[in-house]
Amino acid sequence: MKEKKKSDLSVLLGFAGSYKGLTFLGLGLSAVAMALGMLPYICIWLAARDLIAVAPDWTQATALAKYGWLAFAFAFGGIVVYFCALMCTHLAAFRTASNIRKAGLSHLMKTPLGFFDNNASGLLRNRLDGGAAETETLLAHNLADIVGTAAMFIGMLVLMFVFDWRMGAACLLSAVISVAAMFTMMGGKNAGLMAEYQAAQDVMSKAGTEYVRGIPVVKVFQQTVYSFKAFKAAIDAYSEKAQTYNDDVCRVPQSVNLTFTEGAFIFLVPAALILAPGALAKGDFAGFVTNFAFYAVFSAIVSTALARIMFASAGTMLAKTALGRINTVMDAPTLPVTDNPQSPRDNSVVFKDVSFTYDGAALPALDHVSFTVKPGQTVALVGPSGGGKTTAASLIPRFWDVSSGEVLVGGVNVKEIDPHALMERIAFVFQNTQLFKTSILENVRASRPEATREEALQALHAAQCDDIIDKLPQGIDTVIGSQGTYLSGGEQQRVALARAILKNAPIIVLDEATAFADPENEALIQKALKKLTEGRTVIMIAHRLSTVVGADKIIVLENGRVEEEGSHETLSASGGLYERMWKEYNRAVEWKIASGKEEA
Ligand code: ADP
Ligand code: MG
Repeated sequence: MKEKKKSDLSVLLGFAGSYKGLTFLGLGLSAVAMALGMLPYICIWLAARDLIAVAPDWTQATALAKYGWLAFAFAFGGIVVYFCALMCTHLAAFRTASNIRKAGLSHLMKTPLGFFDNNASGLLRNRLDGGAAETETLLAHNLADIVGTAAMFIGMLVLMFVFDWRMGAACLLSAVISVAAMFTMMGGKNAGLMAEYQAAQDVMSKAGTEYVRGIPVVKVFQQTVYSFKAFKAAIDAYSEKAQTYNDDVCRVPQSVNLTFTEGAFIFLVPAALILAPGALAKGDFAGFVTNFAFYAVFSAIVSTALARIMFASAGTMLAKTALGRINTVMDAPTLPVTDNPQSPRDNSVVFKDVSFTYDGAALPALDHVSFTVKPGQTVALVGPSGGGKTTAASLIPRFWDVSSGEVLVGGVNVKEIDPHALMERIAFVFQNTQLFKTSILENVRASRPEATREEALQALHAAQCDDIIDKLPQGIDTVIGSQGTYLSGGEQQRVALARAILKNAPIIVLDEATAFADPENEALIQKALKKLTEGRTVIMIAHRLSTVVGADKIIVLENGRVEEEGSHETLSASGGLYERMWKEYNRAVEWKIASGKEEA
């Protein structure tokens, strides 16, 4: 059986939980408020009737004050009820938005960490926050207004026909014309033009972003806006489309629409002139004038009602965009978590026939890779860029799950280990180290928040960070990124190493820890690495082959496959890829030393 697709709105309301009822109460009150707001018009009719009945002896119209107060009471009551309605919808909307944020965050907690490589967390947060905020506006204001507008519309139709349907129809006629004019702008061939206009706007805004991104280049090379041909062309195309859309589509209908919305009484006067002789003949001229007075006043609310209907229809579109944003977060894949977790038996890491293909990639990043790292061993992954080293490293802490094969930690498939237990067992330092905008102390403690200040200091010392701390104004309490305290790539790397040292995990994964280091930093980083890796299981990825010479085993990855495996001694004389890489590396080092000598 096919399940009926839920509407965007009911999906959003689903997040309201127990506050859903409050939303409906608010909407009901909003309708009541609108109905109350229509009642003063009846008072006007009553007042007009009394006045015309006693004219010109006005003193006889004794009930006037009563009608006045009644009208005031209805209007005031309407405002009070509307206020209560908004209270209800706001309470529910705030709760719903907060539920959406919570649901989104708890969903993101279950997504594989690798997901955030391709989906910046800031962007996800923006989408979730933006979607939640839009929902807030929608549920707190728009929805109440939509329901109120519907109530107003029904009330308007009733009042139009209740006193004199012919004059009511005359008022309605102008409303019909203005709505019809509005629809011609959106329908038929004009819909195509509208789409073209919006497409041109999209192209322009994209080209604009591109242009802003390129400003540094523009400035450096002294270019002008004309060099950004695409942007200029997009602006020209947009202005042409806007002009066409204006002239061909909007001008006439919009004028008609405005004329008949604002002048809703336009048919009322001729209608009254036609009806007057009949009323005179029947002898009920007073009643006729009363009705005319009523409709003359009442026609003013027709334009208000129409304007509100237009805004309300915009509000329903908001539900779609809000839900779309929220869904980009909710549709993120999640990592399955095992129901009966097992504990790793030791600190070995084993890849068993592992293949992995990134979403949307044509070729696998890892292709039937197998290797074993015994407890306490240091194994180096080397090979040309794009060979799959980083991918292999990120499968160990389950940044991604394998496409096929198994990754075992301590003899247990990582999928069968409790994710927290797995994370506790592994410390990693990745290429793109990220420090938080907080103090050095807190940055180091991120790996083990319960660590003492003393322990953090020891870790920093072991990671050779003493020089960094000494030069910072508030030592380890200095907030990184504030007051111009920025750390170089190599310094950041050392702080990241201190973080890993503090974690004191038995398995260490290092991805090109020396990649960004200048020579001075490199020596320090090597020392820090030594401290970090002592007596632990280490999987290291390194550019500089000098750092892998001492590894227990070297695995050469090329195009996602294990090309060679063995110690430095055997591989450097095997005539294979590693030997070529080693010779290349030495030539580069010699060249560096030689050029250094010439300078001296
Ligand atoms: P290495 O670390 O050896 O340089 P990687 O493991 O980073 O290699 O990359 C292996 C292959 O996977 C490359 O072809 C790369 O383009 C691709 N790749 C890496 N990261 C991603 C990603 N997040 N999404 C899609 N493809 C990726
Ligand atoms: Mg890499």
